[in-house]
Amino acid sequence: MTGEITLYWGTMYSGKTSALISDLIKAGEEAICFKPMIDNRYSNDCIVSHDGIEFPATPIQKASEIFLLLDNKITTIGIDEASLFENDPTFVPTVLKLRDMGYHVILSGLDRTSEDTIFTAMSYLASMADNCVKLRTKCSDCKTNLATISFYIGSEPKTSAIKVGGVGEYIPLCRSCANKRWGK
Ligand SMILES: [Zn+2]
Repeated sequence: MTGEITLYWGTMYSGKTSALISDLIKAGEEAICFKPMIDNRYSNDCIVSHDGIEFPATPIQKASEIFLLLDNKITTIGIDEASLFENDPTFVPTVLKLRDMGYHVILSGLDRTSEDTIFTAMSYLASMADNCVKLRTKCSDCKTNLATISFYIGSEPKTSAIKVGGVGEYIPLCRSCANKRWGK
């Protein structure tokens, strides 16, 4: 079996987790999914798309824990909210190693921070990916243009690029609507 990397990335609400779950369901019993320990938005032991479809997922603190959690029947490994592993030095090496071991690694995550800067690890993996799909959704403000920015509207000041988004903390905006809110 030849390993490969698939990456679904885009703004909030662009259907990244739905795409990941759909691929994992197709792989059936041979698929396993992981997610960052800090992401407790909906459930501790599964991932849930914004349209309510669930798939079991094991929370991990570091990507390298995946090596300890695989069994013989697994061929496909999903990692949801992959952009939250930005500060985990084991993340990129783990994904590349799993691919080299013959696994199909499917990642879902944000393409950029809400400050419109890159996630270094995600950008690197987008270059390395065999399949890279940028997903889009409509802008929440003008409802016309496709969104390109996950705009932060939370009440707490945002101190880190990887603050986990609760329901309603981020909205997808097109660049012109984001610029209006930024006062640019
Ligand atoms: Zn707009």
